[in-house]
Amino acid sequence: MANSQYEVVKQFERENYLLQDTHIVIRVDGRGFHRFTKNYDFSKPNDERALKLMNKAAHCVMESIPDTVLAYGDSDEYSFLLRKDTDLFERREAKLVSTFVSSFTSYYIFYWNDYFVDKKLNLDDGLPTFDGRAVLYPNIKRIRQYFSWRQVDCHINNLYNTTFWTLVIKGGLTPQDAENKLMGTFAKDKNEILFSEFGINYNNEPEIFKKGTVIVRESNEVENVSDALNRTSLEEQNTGAVDAPLSLRQKERRAKKRRKMKIQEHHADIIGDTFWHERSYLFE
Ligand code: ATP
Ligand code: ATP
Ligand code: MG
Ligand code: MG
Ligand code: MG
Ligand code: MG
Ligand code: MG
Repeated sequence: MANSQYEVVKQFERENYLLQDTHIVIRVDGRGFHRFTKNYDFSKPNDERALKLMNKAAHCVMESIPDTVLAYGDSDEYSFLLRKDTDLFERREAKLVSTFVSSFTSYYIFYWNDYFVDKKLNLDDGLPTFDGRAVLYPNIKRIRQYFSWRQVDCHINNLYNTTFWTLVIKGGLTPQDAENKLMGTFAKDKNEILFSEFGINYNNEPEIFKKGTVIVRESNEVENVSDALNRTSLEEQNTGAVDAPLSLRQKERRAKKRRKMKIQEHHADIIGDTFWHERSYLFE
């Protein structure tokens, strides 16, 4: 290997190796989408084309990075959960985050025309860019809290935005008046405004708006749910038993199984137990 006198600068590089035995979540979020969505005339409060484009990009990222077991997204953001024992890029944070962000952005731009057939991306209106971060969670309880947090956020924003834009578009209020009217209101007040003033039952709004989208690898093997739950809770108790490292053959078998799993989209509740109890294999 040719070691030049300049290679000394390599020593200035610092790597953050994400702690092993923790769950990695990578979240990407559109930069300045408040403005971007205005420039491209997104329908308000929810442009369905844009949500489907986000889902498409996330789906492609999951396909191209098999260690991603689940993704959840709404608005201009997507969170990706990696399998706990992933060794992708030796768990180097910068490699992981930058790869997710640039893959997601590439797919978003590549498929733009499929969803926005009459509006091309252009420099005047700005190109879509995303930022990203990685967060580590120590156990399944925290992972579920994380995804619950994102879905609650989706719900709160959507109820607010739906009421706000109904007041503006159907009620003829100025944005300022609509904002004032909603100040200090609770969820039940917004539901009431939608129903009594506009005959809209919020519960009947499309699930993709209310719940966001969860994309998950589906196991085709029906597994014994209680076995799986016992196993995961045992793992979490950390009773002192040392995890036996998987043999190469075991690893290959599992990787093959993951590749064969179908990637599927749902607009489901991920706050309650059902979704997770049906998919405990995600944490294997
Ligand atoms: P930042 O760069 O800090 O993320 P931002 O302008 O992107 O700034 P966010 O908090 O991420 O701020 O908000 C996303 C914005 O994009 C919101 O204004 C939201 O209403 C809008 N938006 C995202 N997706 C859609 C959609 N499908 N239809 C309509 N508007 C959308
Ligand atoms: P990693 O994902 O680790 O970066 P890599 O395959 O991208 O893996 P690099 O060290 O980044 O590895 O090397 C880039 C590769 O791309 C080299 O093989 C280089 O020769 C090739 N390459 C890059 N640009 C050009 C170019 N303009 N013409 C021909 N080959 C190129
Ligand atoms: Mg942001
Ligand atoms: Mg944003
Ligand atoms: Mg956002
Ligand atoms: Mg390279
Ligand atoms: Mg290179």
